Amino acid sequence: MLEKRLQELAARHLSRRLTPLHSGTGPVVEMAGRQILLFASNDYLGLALHPEVVQAAIEATQRFGAGSGAARLISGSLPPHQELESALAQFKGTEAALTFSSGYLANIGTIPALIGRDGLILADRLSHASLIDGCRLSRADFRIYRHNDTDHLETLLAKRRRERRTLIVTDGLFSMDGDLAPLPELSRLAQTYEADLYIDDAHGTGVMGPHGRGTAEHFGVNAGLPFQMGTLGKAFGSSGAYLAGPLTLIRYLMNTSRSFIFTTAPPPGSAAAVTAALRIIQREPERRARLWANRERLFTGLARLGFNLSPSVTPIMPILVGDAETALSFAEHLFTEGVYAPAIRPPTVPDATSRVRVTVTSEHTINHIDQALTAFQRAGQLSGLI
Ligand SMILES: *Cc1c(COP(=O)(O)O)cnc(C)c1O
Repeated sequence: MLEKRLQELAARHLSRRLTPLHSGTGPVVEMAGRQILLFASNDYLGLALHPEVVQAAIEATQRFGAGSGAARLISGSLPPHQELESALAQFKGTEAALTFSSGYLANIGTIPALIGRDGLILADRLSHASLIDGCRLSRADFRIYRHNDTDHLETLLAKRRRERRTLIVTDGLFSMDGDLAPLPELSRLAQTYEADLYIDDAHGTGVMGPHGRGTAEHFGVNAGLPFQMGTLGKAFGSSGAYLAGPLTLIRYLMNTSRSFIFTTAPPPGSAAAVTAALRIIQREPERRARLWANRERLFTGLARLGFNLSPSVTPIMPILVGDAETALSFAEHLFTEGVYAPAIRPPTVPDATSRVRVTVTSEHTINHIDQALTAFQRAGQLSGLI
């Protein structure tokens, strides 16, 4: 039965398997016994391997142990978690912050805490799977609006009963497309229609805005957003997630968010690593400058080669392919040419929009990018994409 379903997936070119990675997240990694240029990681600022971040993890691990022992409400809350939450609140300019073990857990715990059976959720069609799962778990009435289509969203807002509690849900920076949600317009609609706006800024945090505070900072709308969610496993180089907002909201979530209450706290080393990463993010804006310069070089190069690129404005630069089979063979050709970038297929993206998702980091050199462009050209030609 399971074997048959696996075979069906394989026949549709939708089966997945793990690619062993024998070194840290890059930019040059060891895969299948070869040196490969990695254009797949979300470690945008190269902080996962930063000596200061690694050292912070080691010291906190030696001092407080490999694990946290229990959920924080059960066995006590360790200093690394407390320090991280103060630092995050300060960074995001909010009264308080609450950390979760992952972005997935933050979304499936927070959304159902914020809205229930009698509420209405309006979510962007391309919202991350963890947001969709959070919306479903809430049991609220759940509607989808067309991607970044604020007219469609406004139509849905205008139709609902006014007194009905409403949550608008969106990625800040879309994880598989690399475009941005129109936050000024969404924030205006939320205010006009008295809805709450739930922004998942997993990919924007550390990357967007002059100080890396995220997509809201990029658009200058921080002040109009009472709370925001982001993750700590991408630009922050470790793992976890946060909800930043007013103290009352944070205390409420601590009391009601099931994925906070009923799960073991992240390891102290992981929390300490994030605090160290946050220090570097604030101290070294040149990392973001390098990231954006790399992004421009690679994006311009890919566009010049004639690839069909998604309307990305960020370090996530998907090459649109269409069918899953071609996306897979393109990724395989790329690998042969010494570059790893993954084929992304349904259900991660809508049907017939399979792609190869390319991400760049501050750690790629000009040489890496130019070598990669040669690989993209050969692989693109072999796959008939250019
Ligand atoms: C990666 C991602 C998540 C999940 O975060 P994890 O910390 O990896 O669980 C949630 N939302 C978006 C938009 C993401 O890209």
